[in-house]
Amino acid sequence: MELHQSPISPGRSWYEDSVPDRPRYPKLDGSLKVDVLVVGGGFTGLSAAAHLAERGVKVAVLEAHRFGDGASGRNGGQLGTGHRLWPAELEPTYGFERTKALFDLAEEAKAHLLDFSRIHRIEIDHQPGQISVVHKKRYLREYEAHAETMGERYGYPHLSCMDAVETATRLGSSAYFGGLRDTGTGHIHPLKLLVGTAKAAAAAGAQLYEETPVTSLTGTGGVLATTARGTIRAERALIATNAHGGNLNAEAARHIMPIRSFIGATEPLDEPSRVLPGGEAADDSRFVVRYFRKSPDGRLLFGGREAYTSGAGDISVHIRKQIAEVYPHLKDVPITHAWGGSVGITMVRMPYVRVVEPGITAIGGFSGHGVMLANFTGRLYAESVAGNRDRLRLLEDLKIPSFPGGRTLRHPLLFLAMTWYSLRDRL
Ligand SMILES: Cc1cc2nc3c(=O)[nH]c(=O)nc-3n(C[C@H](O)[C@H](O)[C@H](O)COP(=O)(O)OP(=O)(O)OC[C@H]3O[C@@H](n4cnc5c(N)ncnc54)[C@H](O)[C@@H]3O)c2cc1C
Repeated sequence: MELHQSPISPGRSWYEDSVPDRPRYPKLDGSLKVDVLVVGGGFTGLSAAAHLAERGVKVAVLEAHRFGDGASGRNGGQLGTGHRLWPAELEPTYGFERTKALFDLAEEAKAHLLDFSRIHRIEIDHQPGQISVVHKKRYLREYEAHAETMGERYGYPHLSCMDAVETATRLGSSAYFGGLRDTGTGHIHPLKLLVGTAKAAAAAGAQLYEETPVTSLTGTGGVLATTARGTIRAERALIATNAHGGNLNAEAARHIMPIRSFIGATEPLDEPSRVLPGGEAADDSRFVVRYFRKSPDGRLLFGGREAYTSGAGDISVHIRKQIAEVYPHLKDVPITHAWGGSVGITMVRMPYVRVVEPGITAIGGFSGHGVMLANFTGRLYAESVAGNRDRLRLLEDLKIPSFPGGRTLRHPLLFLAMTWYSLRDRL
């Protein structure tokens, strides 16, 4: 198998070693004229391209590295339910009707991901079930209230409350005080989905290019983009660069900020039934969230330790420490893979969808909740190009303030804020 490692994120992922076939796509050597130019080949960009091409739109995707080298090929694979913010956090700003519409959209996103992979015969190793557990007793009431709200007012019957005993049984660990069980969601192999989405886009007629960074993009007088070797003219463009966008578009950069998250994969466990025996994925109540699940071959994939500076340090040392806190019997388990990725976050942890220049839309900032939402938002973008902007507008209308401090100061400020939050996780 060819060894490839993302040049933009540290460490080789277990996904890269377990995806059976990851075709390469050519570099764009010259100029191009298309209806829609997509910049960035993660879930957002490739999903948009697949749905645009299926509608007969002439679309090209330009990816700076390889498809999946960004967050989409390296994440925790947890689908989740709803948005990163719960209805109780959204309702004060948006009211019940809009919050419900946002929730329904996220439910559609979940169904869309599973339908899309079934229709295109993409094996994504889907495993059902999610448990969300609290690391401080005081959070239990909030979680219970959330389950009640979801069942009674949002029509979501799949959440149930777990006491400490049930939580310990389902986790195989007594490190948590209780939590929620969600039987309406699950987890997947993200790189398999990404590779399959690229294949579906290519099969529908999208032109896909790797290792072709877009160096400038403007919407004045029609969309014009440049690469090192040519220009691309288009009627519209989608910026789907998320946390990796750099300075390509100043407006998007003010609203989406990269933070790092890291994952370790153990070797297949000797006694896999001692950890998450029901096969669910788990996430916890820390602000610096820990998220873990088992792979189909019985490895523990454990994520956590967000870092707000660029240094990766020794990922497996830190991940091992966190694994041992939850599963003391695994304190010496061999970790075969340890890697990181950049999560695109916004100030309010809801996605950023905006027309940033005439003809140019930027989409990103899913704030750790993009596995289902980025894929679906790509589709909603395609829908909007075809003339129906209603559903994309639900996201466009979200209030997303820019980060204070501009591009230079925002990192030190965020570092301070996050240090405070991670301290609070320990109080
Ligand atoms: C470690 C980690 C764990 C995560 N866990 C989860 C999880 O369990 N559940 C969940 O829902 N979400 C999770 N996320 C978030 C999720 O992965 C993202 O929300 C989602 O993948 C975003 O997809 P995207 O297409 O918007 O961005 P990306 O996948 O990051 O793609 C952006 C692409 O744009 C390319 N690019 C950038 N600049 C240019 C340019 N100038 N020209 C051409 N191409 C360019 C980049 O190379 C990159 O490939 C996690 C993220 C990380 C990093």
